[in-house]
Amino acid sequence: MSSPELMDKIVSLCKRRGFIFQSSEIYGGLNGAWDYGPLGAELKRNVKNAWWQSTVHFRDDVVGLDCSILMHPKTWEASGHVANFVDQLVECKKCNKRLRPDHLDNGRCPQCKNNTFSDPRAFNLMLKTFLGAMEDSSATVYLRPETAQGIFVNFPNVIDSTHRKLPLGIAQIGKSFRNEITPGNFTFRTREFEQMEIEYFCRPEDAAAKYEEWIQARFQWYKDLGIKPENLKLRPHADDELAHYAAGCTDVEYNFPFGWSELEGIANRGAYDLQQHEKFSGQDLQYKDPVTNEKFFPHVIEPSGGCDRGTLAFLVDAYHEETVNDATRVVMKFHPKLAPIKVAILPLAKKSEGIVTLAKKIKSELQKELVCVYDETAAIGKLYRRQDEIGTVFCVTVDFQSLEDHQVTVRHRDTMVQERIAIDHLREYLKKHLGF
Ligand code: ATP
Repeated sequence: MSSPELMDKIVSLCKRRGFIFQSSEIYGGLNGAWDYGPLGAELKRNVKNAWWQSTVHFRDDVVGLDCSILMHPKTWEASGHVANFVDQLVECKKCNKRLRPDHLDNGRCPQCKNNTFSDPRAFNLMLKTFLGAMEDSSATVYLRPETAQGIFVNFPNVIDSTHRKLPLGIAQIGKSFRNEITPGNFTFRTREFEQMEIEYFCRPEDAAAKYEEWIQARFQWYKDLGIKPENLKLRPHADDELAHYAAGCTDVEYNFPFGWSELEGIANRGAYDLQQHEKFSGQDLQYKDPVTNEKFFPHVIEPSGGCDRGTLAFLVDAYHEETVNDATRVVMKFHPKLAPIKVAILPLAKKSEGIVTLAKKIKSELQKELVCVYDETAAIGKLYRRQDEIGTVFCVTVDFQSLEDHQVTVRHRDTMVQERIAIDHLREYLKKHLGF
C-alpha cells in the first residue's frame, strides 16, 4: 500500500468510526482544526493518562500543574516569543497561497505548481485576543503558544508550596495555539493543539546526565505503548538548529506516511527561562539549597510532546489489514492501555430474552472497571469485524450454551483465538490479559 493511500484510509476510518471529524464541518470546516469523536476522545484521554501516569504518578521527582491559557503579556516578552517566535512566509505569485519556504514542493507551490514567490517576510505565530471591553493594545493578550512558560513562572510557587528539593520536574498537559502558516497532514500540524510538557529543574552540573536520561525515558514510552521500534528514531539537532541558549535538543521522530516527523523534542535549555523571567518581573527566581543555603539558577531539561501528534502516531501504527477467508480484515492493534474500548459484549441471539438479560448483566458488572460496549445490531461475524476496526481488545459472546454452563466465549482481537471462560472468572481473566 502506498503511503498516501494508507493516510487516506486512516483519515477515512477516523471519520467513519468516530475518531476524528473536521471542525465545524457543516460550514465547510476550518483549516487546521479538528474535533475528536466518541472513540477519539477516549483514545486521546488514554494517551494523556498514560503520559501523566508514567511522568508524574510513577516517579518520585515530578509533580503536576495546570495553568491558565491566558498569561500576563510580559511573559511572552521575557520568553522571547514576541520578538522571535516567527516563521518565514512567502506568497505564491500565481494563486496567492501563503507558505513557509521550507514547505514548498520541490520549489513549487503545492496548490498551483507555480515557482515564483514574494520575498520571505517574518510572521509571528502567536494568536492574539483582547481581554475586557477595550480592543486596543493595552488589552491585548496572547493565547499561549506553549504550556512551558506557565511552569517557569510558577517555579517558586511550586518549590515554596511543596517544600521539594532539586532535582524536581513539573509536568503539564494543556492546549496551545499557533497561527501556523501551513497547517496540514491531518492532525499533525494544527493551529490549536495539546501539549504534554515537563520542565525538569536540576543542578547545572547534573544537566548533561539528566538530558540523556530523559531522551531514553521518552523514547521508551512510545515503545512501551506499542509503537513498532522500526517506526521510531531519535534525531539530535545540529548546532545551527539550536536556540542560542540551548546546550542540546533531540527529537523523537515517527515514520508517518508523509515521512519521518517530530513527535516530541527533548531540550537542554540551561537557565535561560528563569533568568529571563527574573529580569522582566524583578522577582527572585533562584533556587536556594535548603542544606547549603547556596543560591543559583537551576538548569532545565524540557521533554515537550504533542498529544495530538502522539495520538496520530498511535492511530497510524495500530492500523493493520489482513486477509481472512478471502476477505480483508481491518484491525486497529492498539496497546490495551490505549484502546478506546476494552471489551464488547455481544449476544449471539438478540431475540433470546435469556441471552440478552445475561449479556446486559455482564456488561453492567464489567463497566465498573473496564470501558465496555454492548452491541446487538448485527450478526456475530459483522459485530466482530466492527470491533476489530475500532481496536476493541476483547469480544465476549453470550450464547445459548452460556445459559446452561455459565461460560462465555472470549475472542482475542489480534489472534482471533476464542476461549470459553466461566462468567465468575471473566473479570479477573480480562483484567489480567489487559495488564490491569
Ligand atoms: P515543528 O518544527 O513541527 O513546527 P516545533 O519544533 O516548533 O514543531 P515545539 O515548539 O518543540 O515544536 O513543540 C513541542 C511539541 O508540540 C512538538 O514536538 C509537537 O508534538 C507539538 N506541536 C508543536 N506545534 C504543533 C502543531 N502546530 N500542531 C500539533 N502539534 C504541535
